[in-house]
Amino acid sequence: MTKIAIIGGTGVYAPKLLEDVRMVAQKTPYGDVEVAVGGFQGVEAAFIARHGAGHSVPPHLINYRANIMALHMLGIERIIATAAVGSTFHEFKPGQFVLADQFIDFTKNRKATFYEGGASGVIHCDMTVPYCPALREALAKSGAELDLVIHNGGTYVCSEGPRFETAAEIQAIKILGGHLVGMTSVPEVILARELGMCYASICLVTNFAAGITTGILTHSEVVEVMRKSLHNIHSIIVSALKHISRERDCDCVRSLPDTGVGQ
Ligand SMILES: [Zn+2]
Repeated sequence: MTKIAIIGGTGVYAPKLLEDVRMVAQKTPYGDVEVAVGGFQGVEAAFIARHGAGHSVPPHLINYRANIMALHMLGIERIIATAAVGSTFHEFKPGQFVLADQFIDFTKNRKATFYEGGASGVIHCDMTVPYCPALREALAKSGAELDLVIHNGGTYVCSEGPRFETAAEIQAIKILGGHLVGMTSVPEVILARELGMCYASICLVTNFAAGITTGILTHSEVVEVMRKSLHNIHSIIVSALKHISRERDCDCVRSLPDTGVGQ
């Protein structure tokens, strides 16, 4: 049975897509997680609000390991995440969608692995293609069908937050090849891969990043752009489902460390 999860980022809180929703308090070794579980277009689905109800948890304090482990323990194989991002790249404009295909990690203080030695072992997980190509393809097809601008591929730079970046940092990110800046995709995508789950992120460009255009950045501006695009995000996810094959035929499982976890 296909099982997917949606991790709602900034501005995406209510599991409105799910039918017959029930709340599950999933226990994990990293803490308990509130997960909405229900049906979704004939598949089993789960929803987690990444920042908690009402955006109450900042990016650097999210319990990423508990969230991903909770979904894994519920039998989820595929995760579609949403993210509000700034753009450093003029081709990626506010209001447009980008499916990240690579990341650069600028975080500083996060637990980014399940494997910390001892009983869990020491594992070096392949991360050549961190975001699932099959899920991205399904989402890209869906966006095209809906006549939305959705770019399939872009490098997401994850900063520690919760502050926004300086103009100099954005210049450095551009030089390094970063197209998008956000605060949450790392370690989420890494942890999903460590458990053999497929992961894709629908990034909504809410603004150009610091120094790309004049003016200051505000969180309310980000939330407002997200609010206007919420319907489109829901539509992209719903219409992507028919493009997702029942059996997984991607390398996300095959690049899993040889631990038996998730297999
Ligand atoms: Zn995959």
